Amino acid sequence: MPYSTQRRPGSANRSPRAYQSRPSTRRPSKSKFSKQYINPSRFVKAAQPAADVVEYIPQHAFADFALHPLLKQNIADKGYVTPSPIQDQTISQGLTGKDIIGIANTGTGKTAAFMLPTLHRLLEEPHARALIIAPTRELAQQIEEEARSLAKGSGLFRAVLIGGSSMGEQLRDLKSLPSIVIGTPGRIKDHLERGSLDLSTFNIVTLDEVDRMLDMGFIADIRFILDSLAHERQSFFFSATLDPKIRELINTFLSDPVVVSVKTGETSDSVEQDVVRYNASHEKIGKLHDILTQEHVGKTLVFDETQRSVERLAKELQERGFKVDSIHGGKTQGQRTRALKQFKESKLTVLVATDVAARGIDVADITHVINYTTPQTYEDYVHRIGRAGRAGRTGYALTFIDQ
Ligand code: AMP
Repeated sequence: MPYSTQRRPGSANRSPRAYQSRPSTRRPSKSKFSKQYINPSRFVKAAQPAADVVEYIPQHAFADFALHPLLKQNIADKGYVTPSPIQDQTISQGLTGKDIIGIANTGTGKTAAFMLPTLHRLLEEPHARALIIAPTRELAQQIEEEARSLAKGSGLFRAVLIGGSSMGEQLRDLKSLPSIVIGTPGRIKDHLERGSLDLSTFNIVTLDEVDRMLDMGFIADIRFILDSLAHERQSFFFSATLDPKIRELINTFLSDPVVVSVKTGETSDSVEQDVVRYNASHEKIGKLHDILTQEHVGKTLVFDETQRSVERLAKELQERGFKVDSIHGGKTQGQRTRALKQFKESKLTVLVATDVAARGIDVADITHVINYTTPQTYEDYVHRIGRAGRAGRTGYALTFIDQ
């Protein structure tokens, strides 16, 4: 039952308060410019014990969906037994050809929710083409991985159009007229402008993490891309929120969409959240070291603010003997992909990252997210901690707070 919230063994008796140190009388340091003030109480929240979570009873088994047999086989090969709530509610609607708006937190299985109906149509309709737009390179690559395993043996060509990776390879992939194009808005637009991509026959489109894309300033690029698609098309929009800017986009580009919402709370219910208080910045590294060496702390994603501070922290942790690497915007795509792969394969136990580089990271067994510095906005916080507690596991999020 991958989607019922389960407690990790032994976690029920542990008090997250144990992470806190004694209060101090030091005056708070000057707040940082342009950072949203977030009341520290918003960083403290217990994960819902399994007994409190009403277990979702799916209305369908994967076998019930009118999906192509190849897809059913690949679903089974991936070990997916029960559809997650968003899959349960999206797949059959998606197969009818309707436009879908999915309101879902990260880690809910939303990728397969849009990918399965998309692949089904690509297999059934020889002229169908699909475009998937994601805010970051990492998310685009993860979507590609999911597409690759779900479409195994289908012979469908894919192209991944992201910044920081070889243009020559992308141009070559586009020449083979791929059925699925996955990419980030900037690079997709680049290809449209240089004439290497023609979207006029693309009749299935997914926008993943629409809220993030708008936050990152991609609105004009997205409009430009959507205007280049076939007029008759099916759209999937996935977002954690539905704010007015997103509604406007929906009103312009979707027709009579079905809204599927599986969002439960502001932050993932499966993440136990607490703060770590420190009095002086030189104390921070020692506290982080102590946390990372605790027995129950497994794979950990540590967030820091700038490329330089991420580098510095990763170096410090490496000198202390941790298996660590870092990802940030100053690294090449190759370096970022390699670090992420090693983290996934458990060759690294700690990954230090900036917000942008970490968006979309899906490593199922991250136990802890540590905010070594507080995020710019509460929304960033929600995205950061969503990297833990995925696929039915309980995760832990700890935020360092200057007293
Ligand atoms: P996503 O929200 O699409 O990033 O998916 C989160 C994680 O859940 C990924 O590691 C998926 O491989 C996994 N997942 C998706 N659907 C299922 C399912 N039905 N059963 C088990 N795991 C799943």
